[in-house]
Amino acid sequence: MLCTAGHNNTDNAQFCSSCGVNTFQPGTSTGVVSANAATNGLAIASLVLGIVWVFYIGSILALIFGLVAHKQIKVTGQSGKGMATAGIVLGSIGITVLILSVVIASGNTYN
Ligand SMILES: [Zn+2]
Repeated sequence: MLCTAGHNNTDNAQFCSSCGVNTFQPGTSTGVVSANAATNGLAIASLVLGIVWVFYIGSILALIFGLVAHKQIKVTGQSGKGMATAGIVLGSIGITVLILSVVIASGNTYN
């Protein structure tokens, strides 16, 4: 986001890194975080499971939790959408690897 002097800052910046002014300009709602916007628990679970993997079980749960978390965040306005997305991506990668390894393993059986 831009500060009042026009310096570019990260989206979650509270003060300009160049001149130190409060980058939340009046009239813009992008920087306003509601007081009860807690991080979605399933989003956290999704990201953690995507990372820990646990023999593909984590990947499958990460994908499911990530999708559910996305729906919940859309309704509740909670934070954690980025975590849920990361969980979905990691889960999808894990499931793709699982499918590929099953295909390769079954291919080897017939060789
Ligand atoms: Zn500035």
